[in-house]
Amino acid sequence: MIKSASRHYFLWTIGCQMNAADSRRLASELEALGYKATDNERLADVIVLNTCVVRQQAEDKIVGRLGSLKTVKEANPNAVIGLMGCMVGRHEAPALKARFPHVDVFMAPSETEPMVSYLKENGLYELIDESADEDRAFRDALQDAAYLLPAEQRGSSVTAFVPVVLGCSHACSFCIIPYRRGVERSRPQVEVLDEIRAFADQGVKEVMLLGQIVDRYGKDLDNGESLAGLLQATHAINGIDRIRFLTSHPNWMTDDLLQTVADFPKICPQLEVPIQAGNNDVLATMRRGYTREDYLRLIDRIRHFTPEAAIHTDIIVGFCGETEAQFMDTYRLFEEVRFDKTHIAKYSVRPRTVAARRMEDDVPAEEKTRRWKMLDDLQQSILAEKNAALMGQQVSVLVESRRKERWHGRTPHNKLVFFDDDRQDLAGQTVDVTVDWTGPYSLVGHGQVAEACTLT
Ligand code: SAH
Repeated sequence: MIKSASRHYFLWTIGCQMNAADSRRLASELEALGYKATDNERLADVIVLNTCVVRQQAEDKIVGRLGSLKTVKEANPNAVIGLMGCMVGRHEAPALKARFPHVDVFMAPSETEPMVSYLKENGLYELIDESADEDRAFRDALQDAAYLLPAEQRGSSVTAFVPVVLGCSHACSFCIIPYRRGVERSRPQVEVLDEIRAFADQGVKEVMLLGQIVDRYGKDLDNGESLAGLLQATHAINGIDRIRFLTSHPNWMTDDLLQTVADFPKICPQLEVPIQAGNNDVLATMRRGYTREDYLRLIDRIRHFTPEAAIHTDIIVGFCGETEAQFMDTYRLFEEVRFDKTHIAKYSVRPRTVAARRMEDDVPAEEKTRRWKMLDDLQQSILAEKNAALMGQQVSVLVESRRKERWHGRTPHNKLVFFDDDRQDLAGQTVDVTVDWTGPYSLVGHGQVAEACTLT
């Protein structure tokens, strides 16, 4: 007879922050059914892989992982195996079931309900004591789930990801997301605000509002709601100290939105605007809907409203037909804009996309790698220079946690800072840190420390 205390779930998540948010939700729902997190899949009663297929590499990783789960299932036939996210999409479950018969439950992105129903229908749950401290259980679930995510998307109990626009209806020729996450749907503002208030009650200090084109928030609702309005309403929630949003599409960044970012102090000066390529012919075959010149005008507009804004971007190198000269336009754009963070991807063919059906993946793999490395080297030197300017300055850090001897957290511009501080229990607090060392990807500094320590 299995006691509730011995029921465990193992949750493995790759991909975007949206997946991280979905995993957190699933984790809290499993907690409510009496499950506890484990990082050992062999000890788990429920194993869920929350998947990403935006690039071939991500998909290969999951297929490998699914293969190894077959032996786990053979060793423990009672384990319930769930597959969630973009690999499942809205239509792929039957084909996946034929290929991976050891998977019991399939969940489309953001849809946790099939697993909850499966466990309930099979009696594999125990409702946690109604009188138990639910807040605490929820907080623990968040922490456990956060712990099990890869560091980049971990978030923390201090930060929560809040999906506000699901799906995407902008058919970029390279992108599989619209096929897997369905059409664009904004969540009603009241529902989003309720969720953020609940996070604030549980001690969350920072929220990140998410959407594939988050600046289109409200366009499908027909009731006048907009991202600017949602940000302002979020700003009014007590307990939330910082607000970020991503990803924006260059065509939808209105002056109203930029004015809101400039005017409301809790909204961090961080804008994530993927350009994908710096050459107009490549942008046209990608079907992005803007030109390099449009994008550069947007950068000027962002800097007009918020001169010190941190601007992040995504780039694909080696897209179908991209010549060396076209790639060099992207290289020069990097030199010109001097982004604060870049995600550089090598193009990979994704099934059903326009590019997969009508274009040739003609840039050789080694050439993609060479272009990727050129941009990565350039970006690293730009970041080293930009961060060096912060040496000796004081930055405001929202503290996430302590790792080994040092605290760490982020600045409003999203710089990662490690620092020494004699104080206890700083997680969730915003503290001033003086920068003593800078590198391309992080800063090191000190908060309040005894005099002697600063000399060592
Ligand atoms: N909604 C965002 C993109 C989200 S997908 C936007 O509007 O741009 C995250 C990133 O993955 C993209 O920005 C793109 O740089 C990369 N990506 C998407 N499809 C890809 C593909 N087929 N090959 C390589 N990278 C890809």
